[in-house]
Amino acid sequence: MVDAFDSLSLILELIRSGQAVARPALQQASGLGRGIVAERVNLLLDRGLIAEGRLAQANGGRAARELQIRAEAGALLVAYGSLGGFVAGVADLSGHVLASECVACSFAEGPSALMGEIKAIWNRLRPQADIWGIGVGLPAHISFDEATLLDSPSLPTSWTSYHPRRDLSPAFGAQTWVDTDDNMLALGELRVDRTGIKGDFLYMFADLVLGAATVVDGKVYRGAQGAAGNIGHIHSEGADDLCRCGRRGCLEAAVGGEALIHKATMRARAGESARLMERIRDNGGLCVADLGEAAREGDAVAVSLLTEAGRRIGLTLASAVNLFNPSAILVGGSLAATSNLFLAALKTELYRQSLPFVSRDLAVVPATQDVNEMGLVGAAHMVLDQIFNAQSMARWLREGRSPAVLASHL
Ligand SMILES: [Zn+2]
Repeated sequence: MVDAFDSLSLILELIRSGQAVARPALQQASGLGRGIVAERVNLLLDRGLIAEGRLAQANGGRAARELQIRAEAGALLVAYGSLGGFVAGVADLSGHVLASECVACSFAEGPSALMGEIKAIWNRLRPQADIWGIGVGLPAHISFDEATLLDSPSLPTSWTSYHPRRDLSPAFGAQTWVDTDDNMLALGELRVDRTGIKGDFLYMFADLVLGAATVVDGKVYRGAQGAAGNIGHIHSEGADDLCRCGRRGCLEAAVGGEALIHKATMRARAGESARLMERIRDNGGLCVADLGEAAREGDAVAVSLLTEAGRRIGLTLASAVNLFNPSAILVGGSLAATSNLFLAALKTELYRQSLPFVSRDLAVVPATQDVNEMGLVGAAHMVLDQIFNAQSMARWLREGRSPAVLASHL
């Protein structure tokens, strides 16, 4: 019986991802017989999950009707945030974000204030369709099954007792899933596929903090405790800066965006950069984009800080490349957007310090610049992967209830 739902879930996934959208292509991609594919497709059509579209290009034989997910059949509530800021929105069943708003509250203000604002945005933006699921990406380590935040040195204490599923699911009558912010970005990139990167890749989030996500065989690798991706807390050779985790010399404490801003401010105040000092006086402080702008204009302090950041991050990534042999590294976040200088220094060190036969075909490419959009897309696909997996579909179809109702009983 489980096999039937496995194949049903597989057929839906192939249609959802666009890998195969007509019956003959579904047979080929799934390896299932014609009769089974026809039966599963009819069931999905009958339940209103997919619809028939235009005639697909015929490849020798008869033209077949294209199938597509009925994106408007349900809606998802999604939110994504890193330490730099939060955004909340609504998405459809294809993972497309319909509307979103930035959240004024910060992570530091605690769960009650931040999630209160996110709930208000969701209530403003929610469409007529039933809510089928809720997906949230947070800058914390997450127990995925329990949807709880694990204790972490960088987590404000007010968050460790917060239970997103208990708070959000009853409020909107749909199940909630939560994962680490970096995992949302990697999943978003994987599904939107703007970069053409497939298979195994690493997403390097270079922003105020440094994090990474790993995609193995088309799935985000979360680790035994949901704590994979702590690249910012790998020791960086010769560094001695005190890190938020309590240790000294972590990569993030040396060259994370927050650390760079702190170092640039100190050096500007010491009279090393008139340009950065002017920016501090005008705006009351610096941001990562200021460093990029100053570097592009040749400011020596900004150039040295961004080059050092690229070099140290590249060196750390070289170890990860030797260990993991990914096909690509996507580099996203505000540091990645600063200048070519940062990315060039990162690539030089990465290729220099990794084994030639490991990095020979390695692509290092900038990720989508709008991390807020990508985070929301990732959160939507996290939910879709859960509500359309074989287990959920088995319960849903056996019990004859919609995913929204079923999910709230999971
Ligand atoms: Zn650390």
